[in-house]
Amino acid sequence: MSAQPAPRPTVTPRQRIAIIGSGIAGLSAAWLLSRDHRVTLFERAAKPGMGIYTVDIPWADKRTSIDIPLRVFTPAYYPSLQRLYRDAGVRTETTNHAAAYANADNQLFFHYGNLQLGRLSLSVPKLLNGPLLAQHLRLFRALQQHKDRPALAQQSFGEYLRQHDLLTDYSRRILLPALATVCTCDYDDVLAYPADILVNYLTCGVMNEGLMRASGGVDDVVAQLLESSVTLRTSMTVERIEEHEEGIRVVSAGQKEAFDRVIIATQPHHACQILSTLPDAQWHCQQLQQIPVVESRMQLHTDRSLLPASRMPLAPVSYFLPGDEQRPEATVDLTKAIRHLRNDPAILQVWNPLREARQESILADVTFSRPLVTLQSRRAVQALRKQDASQRILLTGSYLCDGIPLLDGAVDSSLRVAHLIGSSRAW
Ligand SMILES: Cc1cc2nc3c(=O)[nH]c(=O)nc-3n(C[C@H](O)[C@H](O)[C@H](O)COP(=O)(O)OP(=O)(O)OC[C@H]3O[C@@H](n4cnc5c(N)ncnc54)[C@H](O)[C@@H]3O)c2cc1C
Repeated sequence: MSAQPAPRPTVTPRQRIAIIGSGIAGLSAAWLLSRDHRVTLFERAAKPGMGIYTVDIPWADKRTSIDIPLRVFTPAYYPSLQRLYRDAGVRTETTNHAAAYANADNQLFFHYGNLQLGRLSLSVPKLLNGPLLAQHLRLFRALQQHKDRPALAQQSFGEYLRQHDLLTDYSRRILLPALATVCTCDYDDVLAYPADILVNYLTCGVMNEGLMRASGGVDDVVAQLLESSVTLRTSMTVERIEEHEEGIRVVSAGQKEAFDRVIIATQPHHACQILSTLPDAQWHCQQLQQIPVVESRMQLHTDRSLLPASRMPLAPVSYFLPGDEQRPEATVDLTKAIRHLRNDPAILQVWNPLREARQESILADVTFSRPLVTLQSRRAVQALRKQDASQRILLTGSYLCDGIPLLDGAVDSSLRVAHLIGSSRAW
C-alpha cells in the first residue's frame, strides 16, 4: 500500500460566492473558500483593501514600499493569523517595538529596549524610574492573579483598575498610551473595554514574546492570499444586495450579479449600509449600529526633529504625551523596526500626530476607522456571531471576534464562515 497521504476531500456543491471587502477578513475568506467555490471579491478601493494605503517611496536608487499601518502581531494572541500565514506561504520576521515615553517637553521619563533570546523578548530598562517600575510589577502580578475571574467579563477595564487600586501613574502614563495605540482609540475608550479582554491580552504572552510582521509586507500577504481563481473587482462599491429567486444579487455601479451566497467583510457601519435595503435586515442593522467606530489619523514623514533626545540609542517606538490629550502621539522609526530598512534614510510612521511635521517631510497622511469593544457592543457581537449554514448572507470582520479587533479576529471570523459554507482549507 502506498504511504501517500489521502487527497483532501472536495467540498460540494461548488457555490458562487461574493465577498464584499478585501481587508484581511475578505482576503482570508477568499483564500479559505477559493479552492472549493467560485469566489468574486468586490473592493471599493482601487486595490485590495489591506494595501490601500501602502506607499512607494522613491529613494535615490530604489523604490521602497511602506505599509500604512505596519500591522504587527504577536504569536500568542494571533493563532489563526499565524496558521493562515503558514498555510498560505506568507513569510514572517521578528520586529522590534521597544518603546520610549516623553513628556510635554519631549523629555524621556521611561525607556526600555528589547533583548531577543530565541522566541523570548525581554524588556530591559534604559532609563530607570523606580516608582513606575514598582507599579508595573504590582500591576502585572495582579493581572496574573485575576485573569481567570469570571467577574472580569461583567466590568469595564477602568472599573477593574479602580477596584484594585491599579489606576496608578504607571497605568495612566505607560499602559493606557500603549493600549490606546494597540486599539487605536481614546484612553476613555480603553477604560470602557470589557476588563477580561484587556486582561487576557496583557497576560497571554505579549509582554515577553515580542512582535512579528509579514516580512514582505502587505504586498506579499495580498499576493499569497489572492489566488488566480478569484475574480477581483476593484473600484467597485457595493451599494446594496437584493434577495432573488436565483440567489442574492450584488448591486454595484448600476450592475447586478447573482450569487449563491454573499459574505460581507466590511466594517460594521458599512455592512449596515449594504444590508439596509433588505426587508428583514432590521435586526442585523440594529446590532451593527451598537458597535462604535472611531477615526484616527496616521502620517508618514521624515522629520526626526520631533523625536525625543536620548543618551542611549532611542527605542523604535516613542510616545509623546503632552498631558491632557485623550490619545498619545505614537511614532515608529521604521528604520529600527523593519530589518530591510535598517540602512535607509529616517522614516517615521506616526499614529495620531499631535505636532506639525515639516511640510516637505510628509509622505502620507491618512485616516482610518476602527471598531471599539464595550460591554454593550460585545452583546451585539455575540448575537451577530450566531450565524448558521442555512444563511445565504454571512458577516465576517475583525469586529466579530471576542477580543480586540485585530488581524487575528478577522481571520478567525472568516474561518468560522468558511466552516459554515464548506472548505477543504479550513482547519
Ligand atoms: C492605525 C491602525 C493600526 C493598526 N495596526 C494593527 C496592527 O499592527 N496589528 C493588527 O493586528 N491590527 C492592526 N490594526 C487593526 C487591523 O488593521 C484591523 O483589525 C483589520 O485590518 C480589519 O480588517 P477587516 O478585513 O475586518 O476590515 P477592513 O480592513 O476595514 O476591510 C474592509 C474592506 O471593505 C471595503 N469596503 C467597505 N465598504 C465597501 C463596499 N460598500 N463595497 C466594496 N468594498 C467595501 C473597504 O474598502 C475595506 O478594504 C490597526 C488598525 C489601525 C486603524
